[in-house]
Amino acid sequence: YDDRDGKIWMDGQMVEWRDAKVHILTHALHYASSVFEGERCYNGKIFKGTEHSERLKKSANLVDFEIPYTVAEIDAAKEAVLKANGLENAYVRAVAWRGAGSDMGVASARNPVRMAVAAWEWGNYYGDAKMKGAKLDLSKWKRPSPETIPCEAKAAGLYMICTMSKHAAEAKGCSDAMMLDYRGYVAEATGANIFFVKDGEVHTPLPDCFLNGITRQTVLAMLRDKGVTVHERHIMPEELEGFEQCWLTGTAAEVTPVGQIGDYTFEVGALTRDVAESYEKLVRS
Ligand code: PMP
Repeated sequence: YDDRDGKIWMDGQMVEWRDAKVHILTHALHYASSVFEGERCYNGKIFKGTEHSERLKKSANLVDFEIPYTVAEIDAAKEAVLKANGLENAYVRAVAWRGAGSDMGVASARNPVRMAVAAWEWGNYYGDAKMKGAKLDLSKWKRPSPETIPCEAKAAGLYMICTMSKHAAEAKGCSDAMMLDYRGYVAEATGANIFFVKDGEVHTPLPDCFLNGITRQTVLAMLRDKGVTVHERHIMPEELEGFEQCWLTGTAAEVTPVGQIGDYTFEVGALTRDVAESYEKLVRS
C-alpha cells in the first residue's frame, strides 16, 4: 500500500502517496494513541460521511486527545482526497494520532496531534464468495470490559486482539473470527458486527462493550422498516446451535452472510439476502 502513485491528505495538505510518512518516534506507533475511520464512497458520495467524521472526533476525545479540525473540515478533506485520486467508488481511511515531538514517554500532551486521509479502491472485504457465506473461527480473545478501555472508540489499541484473532482464523482456513466479550457473551467479528435469525426474528448482541457500528444501526433501522422483530440482547455462544441464519455488518464488510462459525452452520436464507440487497440499494441511492 505504500509505494504507489496517488495523493494523500496529511495535516491540511495534499502530499504524494509515497511521501505520506511519519517519524519512527511517533507516539502512536509506541502507545497506540491513534483513532481511525473506515468509510465507503458509492457513486461519488460517502455513505454517512459526516457521521464517520463525528465518530472520529468522538473516538479521539475518548482516548484523550482533540483533533484540530472541525467535522466540516474533515468532510472536506475526504472529498478532496477522492477528487485528487479520481475515485467515485472507494474505501476512505481517515486516521488521527499523537505524533512525534517533545515527549517520548507514556504521557504525550506536548506532541502534535496529526491527521491523514487516504482513499483507494477496495472490493468485497471477504472476497468474491461474499454471498456464499463466510466461514468464521471462534476467537480465544475476549472483547474487554468498558472499565478496561473505552470500547465505543474506534481506536487502534482495540484492534491488537482483532489482528491476532483474524490471523489465527486465517491459519485455519476461515475468513474471520467471532469474538466473545469479557463475560462470555457473543460480541462481534474482528471488524464487523453480527446478526442472527431464528423463526423469522432477528437477534443481535447489545453493543455495551464494542463498536455500535454505523452499518449495524443502518441495518437495524432497515429491519424495523421491514416490520421484522429485532431482539438486541446478550447472546450466549451455545445459542448459535438454534440460529438459522447469520450475517455480519460493517462499512468494509457491508452485509456479508455467514455460513459457519466453528462447528455451527447457517444457511444463506431469504432474510439475509433481502437485507444484503436492501443495504446495497440504500448505499447507492
Ligand atoms: N466492529 C469493529 C471492531 C469494526 O472495526 C467495525 C468497522 N468499523 C465495525 C464493528 C462496524 O462498524 P461500521 O459499521 O461503523 O463500519
